[in-house]
Amino acid sequence: MISVKDVQQAQERIRDIARVTPIFQSDQLSNICGNNLFLKTEHLQKTGSFKIRGASNKVIQATETGATYVTTASSGNHGQAVAYITNSYNIPSTIVVPENSSQCKVDAIHAYQGKIEKCGTTSEERLARAQEIATETNGIYVPPYDDPFVMAGQGVVGLEIIEQVEDIDIILVPVGGGGLLSGILTAVKETHPHIKVIGVEPENAKDTYLSLQNKTITSSPASTIADGLRTSQPGELTFPVVMKYVDDLVLVSEDEIRHAFTFVMERTKQLIEPSSATAIAAVMFNKIHAKDKNIVSVISGGNVDVDQIDQFLKLS
Ligand SMILES: *Cc1c(COP(=O)(O)O)cnc(C)c1O
Repeated sequence: MISVKDVQQAQERIRDIARVTPIFQSDQLSNICGNNLFLKTEHLQKTGSFKIRGASNKVIQATETGATYVTTASSGNHGQAVAYITNSYNIPSTIVVPENSSQCKVDAIHAYQGKIEKCGTTSEERLARAQEIATETNGIYVPPYDDPFVMAGQGVVGLEIIEQVEDIDIILVPVGGGGLLSGILTAVKETHPHIKVIGVEPENAKDTYLSLQNKTITSSPASTIADGLRTSQPGELTFPVVMKYVDDLVLVSEDEIRHAFTFVMERTKQLIEPSSATAIAAVMFNKIHAKDKNIVSVISGGNVDVDQIDQFLKLS
């Protein structure tokens, strides 16, 4: 298991790459939630999500130990992050994306000079192809969450939150494969164990929730507008950390995600991803039964396909 030392090393390693994102406090959100709500704004991070933290920690470490080629399999935020960091370090890379990726995602990877290879429609096909390229090139494959360096990189979000906000009671974290949650848990629980860390998943993608109930990795189908959370099971490395440290894991409905997405856009003028709106929905709909607490919601990213925004809005 990774330790807070790994997260501190990651913080040093990625200092010149990832931004220290600001904390926003919204009175409107605080009022309707009955708590003091702080937003950790990773949607303002380079490449539009926290994924640059784990990807750069992994890629920099791998090049220090001799890797000369990098691959990954993701058309989403992780693919963009890997394209960005390999371009910055002049390391050749291939990002394997599905045949049916939206043009806007492919364009974003192209914008960071990433080399794209289209392959199949399932994640198994893409993973196999990315690993094949890694073997052919003597390079490394960068997993989206189930890797110690990726997890430690994401954990830097936790170290920053502790430096930026005083007297935190609760931190809310959206959960896909659990890289972000396990990193933050390691950073927070090994230094400030009294702070509660709660994961948030869509009801329609509750694999980590079920895994915690069953005390073993359990897969479950995922169909949610929160596309960053559409993993079908937690990772082999992330799940033990989550099981050891997490205080609770709460679920939000698609309707609640749309409400939170719309509220944040209208009232705070921030464009966040539906994946991140889950961490707002959890407080808006009082899933965590808290009052007058200092709560930090991790806004994990802000990459949305603008053509799809109408599907995310809740117009009442
Ligand atoms: C990847 C991602 C998540 C989930 O992170 P995991 O480490 O897979 O749990 C949440 N939000 C956004 C915006 C993401 O890109």
